[in-house]
Amino acid sequence: MVDPYPTMAGDLDPADPYARAAQTFPCLSEEMAGRVARYGSPEHIEGGTFLFERGQRSVDFFLVVDGAIEMLDMDAHGASTVFTTHRARQFTGEMDLFNERKVLVSSRAAGNTRVVRVKRGDFKRLVAGEPDIGEVIMRALILRRVGLIRHGQGGVVLIGPGHGADTLRLQRFMTRNGYPFQLLDTERNPDAGGFLECFDLASHQLPVLILAGQEVLRNPSSLQLADGLGLTETLDPDKVYDVAVVGAGPSGLAAAVYAASEGLSTLVLESTAPGGQAGTSSKIENYLGFPTGISGQALAGRAQSQAQKFGARLAIARTVTGLDCSRLPYRLRVGELAVQTRTVVVATGARYRRLDLENYAKFEGQGIHYAATSMEAQLCAGDDVVVVGGANSAGQAPTCPPPCRTTWYSALSTRRTSRCIPSARSRVSKAMRSCTSWVGRT
Ligand SMILES: Cc1cc2nc3c(=O)[nH]c(=O)nc-3n(C[C@H](O)[C@H](O)[C@H](O)COP(=O)(O)OP(=O)(O)OC[C@H]3O[C@@H](n4cnc5c(N)ncnc54)[C@H](O)[C@@H]3O)c2cc1C
Repeated sequence: MVDPYPTMAGDLDPADPYARAAQTFPCLSEEMAGRVARYGSPEHIEGGTFLFERGQRSVDFFLVVDGAIEMLDMDAHGASTVFTTHRARQFTGEMDLFNERKVLVSSRAAGNTRVVRVKRGDFKRLVAGEPDIGEVIMRALILRRVGLIRHGQGGVVLIGPGHGADTLRLQRFMTRNGYPFQLLDTERNPDAGGFLECFDLASHQLPVLILAGQEVLRNPSSLQLADGLGLTETLDPDKVYDVAVVGAGPSGLAAAVYAASEGLSTLVLESTAPGGQAGTSSKIENYLGFPTGISGQALAGRAQSQAQKFGARLAIARTVTGLDCSRLPYRLRVGELAVQTRTVVVATGARYRRLDLENYAKFEGQGIHYAATSMEAQLCAGDDVVVVGGANSAGQAPTCPPPCRTTWYSALSTRRTSRCIPSARSRVSKAMRSCTSWVGRT
């Protein structure tokens, strides 16, 4: 089997992790490989044997001693393809090594292969105890996840109308949770490349998700989607956490990093996706330590990895609906469950104030957006757009590529008053009748 990367790398965008093979698929020095071996045990794997398969949870870390391990992606028709091969002193895994989520890809010995298997608990000890190796591994695991997202590998297929509110909701959920997917937009491609017929689907049943193994989810809620993708982690009602953090915006993630790094057992409960409001920002320029700025999504991804590296657990698509502080341990209500904890950090951020305008409900999520990420920008490309609000998020909207045909920047509110100015309101109402897209935050 020829490794595709040396030949692919020359043709790739330099920002593509697969163009940075030395960092994304590094080869450890012999000295480093020797230290890794002390954390695991040697194994001989016969050619064709799977080390792990897509959908399994809690898989181990494998370092190749000699031979080769193939990484396989499965397409929506159930066919497998090898997308990279690890050889001597290279290793398996991506960000799911730090959580209990279902893994996205499968791994198979290409021929008779010797490996070192490092079990989950020992892997965490390795990353913490050998900082130089931990850095190489962490960088590779983050880049590999970015590569999977960029190339739609290990993901699912979303079929639906590109401007439909539910298609956008599902797309947003997966993007913000760093889950790879491919969109088949039925506005551009009405039969979705033959998928609708193949899965016996009618257009009124859209959007749907085709999961690996060809399971179909029809317009799932966020919780159903998170369960279907294996993003939800099992919550143990008998465990008492040292710290439970409600909300995984920048404040909640920061609290999780500091709590977990002090050795406290830490659980983060998040109703949507890590990053909170900041996760929707195209570029944040005033966060300490990022002189050239960073996108909200990248910031959230880094903070999440950091928290998980220290052992914090993140429960996604879990909304806290009640808090009982009448006795210790405290209890947080999450659906039918009660989570027990000695400390609660509430970091639930802000909720958007909605515009009180004619036709508002009709357009929310499909024309009215509360942030201008690259996803919304693609949807508005070439359209007239009205921006409501005058603070920094509004300032980002007109600069988000690709450019809109006309951008009207209506500074209807200020950070202080946060009130619509009546004359401006009537201008916006008028604009709304003739305009297809909105970006607003009031
Ligand atoms: C488009 C945009 C651009 C921005 N740009 C900048 C910038 O450049 N610089 C800057 O300094 N600030 C910027 N901000 C503001 C910054 O993002 C916020 O100040 C910051 O995100 C607040 O962090 P937080 O963790 O307190 O709350 P949030 O980010 O609001 O996070 C709260 C989290 O809690 C979750 N949650 C709420 N209720 C529950 C519940 N009951 N159960 C479970 N989870 C719950 C939410 O889903 C959310 O993820 C921007 C904001 C936006 C929207």
